[in-house]
Amino acid sequence: MADLESPPSVSPSVYNAPSISRPSSCSSAPPDETPNKLPASAPKSFLFEVRHTPTAGRAVFATQDIAEATLIFRSDDLTLSVLLREYRREVCGQCFSYDYGRDLGFRDKNAGFVFCSETCHGEWMRENGDIGVQAWSAVETFVKKRSKEDSEMVDVDLPRPKSKDITKAWDGVAAQAEHIRIARANEAGQGAIQATKQHHKALQKALQAPISPDVMSFCVSGLLWHHNNPSDWNKVLALAADSTPYHNIDDLHAFIRTYLHLLAILPIPLLPFVTAESIFLLSSRDSHNSFGIRSLEDEGSEFFGYGCWPAASYFNHSCAPNIEKRRGGRAWEFRTGKNVKKGEELNITYLSGEERKLTRGKRMQTLKRNWGFDCGCEQCEVEQ
Ligand SMILES: [Zn+2]
Ligand SMILES: [Zn+2]
Repeated sequence: MADLESPPSVSPSVYNAPSISRPSSCSSAPPDETPNKLPASAPKSFLFEVRHTPTAGRAVFATQDIAEATLIFRSDDLTLSVLLREYRREVCGQCFSYDYGRDLGFRDKNAGFVFCSETCHGEWMRENGDIGVQAWSAVETFVKKRSKEDSEMVDVDLPRPKSKDITKAWDGVAAQAEHIRIARANEAGQGAIQATKQHHKALQKALQAPISPDVMSFCVSGLLWHHNNPSDWNKVLALAADSTPYHNIDDLHAFIRTYLHLLAILPIPLLPFVTAESIFLLSSRDSHNSFGIRSLEDEGSEFFGYGCWPAASYFNHSCAPNIEKRRGGRAWEFRTGKNVKKGEELNITYLSGEERKLTRGKRMQTLKRNWGFDCGCEQCEVEQ
């Protein structure tokens, strides 16, 4: 990838700086959450507590002095993840291990993933379940039929679609989506309404629209997670939401086309989960809560994709963080990078390696652009 910080056609959240992102300025809490009650997804430890703050939303504070290099938390609650298509032969679909660009040995041709071991393949099959494996195979079959036509989103500086544009665009395909559902139900010998030419046409039209494979992976991963973990859905709902998560108009349209593609190809039992609302919700929660999945072997120079670990997203950003995060397989480990005093806020940095070396002004710009907040960390205060 030529420009590592600008991956093509991926979720809007990770353009430019694929790292964790939770704006410290964002204090929006879901309606069922009172100031004293934290969502089930909040990280728990005897070393720290999560508290609501007046200005920085939820934040993590040390409840005792903690020595440098202490493992304070391990976040293994990966919900949805995207492995960019261009890395699908080199990165294990389960543990994200990588061998300097060499193709990995355990290939699942039907699902379109490779694995580092039979164990990882088995684990992946188990976690996705029969329906999940069928879903990934349906996507793979569909994408393979279409040559390289993925529309790449080029200009990150185009205006972000506003809420009313987003609503209008989704509403614009509601009738077509309904027609596709009727056509699919009939194909499966189900459904109260007899499908007509009109319904089948709606389905064919959807199939012919340009595809965005990485957006498709994002949606399938999130929808499957919802299907397979219904009781944990509130962990995703509890994350800070972005009401305008689409990077530009092309990005919005890619998600809408993908919605129709998925209605047309996914296994029937998944279709009730494939709604405009749930796909929008996945984008709105992912937008400020994703970690980049990078190579561990070469200081993260390769950006494989990204994922959402709800517990990990409670740590706010600082340009001089006291917590270092490191990925091991599908989990993140958080360690103190210095001695921490009781009562101090525990921060990580949302900036990628290169971005950490930027001047204050440039860092502020990057944080504002990617996560929508003005950095008020101690380091930025000192440099002022
Ligand atoms: Zn593996
Ligand atoms: Zn700062």
